[in-house]
Amino acid sequence: MFADVCERVEDMTAPGILTIDLAALTRNYLDLAARMAPSRAAAVVKADAYGLGAHRVAPALYAAGCRDFFVAQFAEALALRPLLTSDARLYVLNGLLPGAEPACAAHGIIPVLNSLEQVANWRAVARRLGRSLPAALQVDSGMCRLGLAPEEVARLRGAPQMLEGLELLFVMSHLACADEPANEQNAEQLATFRQLAASFPDIGLCFANSGAIFLGSEFRTGLARPGIALYGGAPTGGAANPMAPVVRLDVHVVQTRTVPAGARIGYGGAHVTHRETRLATLAAGYADGLPRHLGDRGAAWFGETRLPIVGRVSMDSMTVDISALPPDTLKLGSPVEIIGPHQTLEDVATAAGTIAYEVLTRLGHRYHRIYR
Ligand SMILES: *Cc1c(COP(=O)(O)O)cnc(C)c1O
Repeated sequence: MFADVCERVEDMTAPGILTIDLAALTRNYLDLAARMAPSRAAAVVKADAYGLGAHRVAPALYAAGCRDFFVAQFAEALALRPLLTSDARLYVLNGLLPGAEPACAAHGIIPVLNSLEQVANWRAVARRLGRSLPAALQVDSGMCRLGLAPEEVARLRGAPQMLEGLELLFVMSHLACADEPANEQNAEQLATFRQLAASFPDIGLCFANSGAIFLGSEFRTGLARPGIALYGGAPTGGAANPMAPVVRLDVHVVQTRTVPAGARIGYGGAHVTHRETRLATLAAGYADGLPRHLGDRGAAWFGETRLPIVGRVSMDSMTVDISALPPDTLKLGSPVEIIGPHQTLEDVATAAGTIAYEVLTRLGHRYHRIYR
């Protein structure tokens, strides 16, 4: 089973193998787009497509029919722009920091305007260029993070000249609790969003993230912005995950040993064995995105056998208890599963006390990456 990912010599130059299934990514996009029909689905490819490589993910999604791509920061949009043809629209969720506007206009990148100051700055460039510039307008429906507050929306409605020279493509907002279907904040935010968006009656809407696509038809309005579900993460907390897994991570063994009872394992001597224990040291650690919180909580897998992490996770390695495997099963270079069929991304995140988003975006750059 592991031989297929390990047959190439160059795989052994890296601490492990990160396999990214672009076919599963495409299936997930088509699934979400079908749920959104007749509305459309964009793709959120911020933070290097949640750590999976925007340079591969975005073109694959374009090939699947996606034409709207969201990144968080302007530099991410600049890096991605040459990889997509001009019919693909690239939006910057955080909008622009002062001074970035001319470059944004020159590269045909679309800012999300989150404040009246960002509106004014973008308009000033439109005026200087003597042409209208496209933008999305974010309103804050109750997350208090980004977007125009209700009183600022009212000011805009009272002074429409503040938007002159701008071509508003849609009004957007973002849910704070979309992964919690029972949370009342979802319906409250939707109602607030509809009320605020009514100030811009001729302009399209953009609302649902991954979780919201599964909240009910009233949330599937306008263009959706899924991220985590594309990458195989669960859109809804505590429920069965309908998405296809996209990521698999196998890490190599660098050493095995047998220690007696009473041995102190790793930094701080944080784990003391209570019987003779066979150990394997794995070639990846927190610098490769495996959280320190997995120490004495998480596990690796070999076939059907769970191998508990013992002691603290080091920067470049960690130690697992392999006593449950027959002796000599693992040796120098053997791969063990960290994310895969026996342990999902959510399992790893839960063991580390975090969320799948954080695990994905932290997977380091030292793995050998295979795109299927
Ligand atoms: C990150 C982000 C998304 C994507 O959210 P997922 O939960 O990953 O689907 C959508 N919209 C905004 C504004 C975001 O910041």
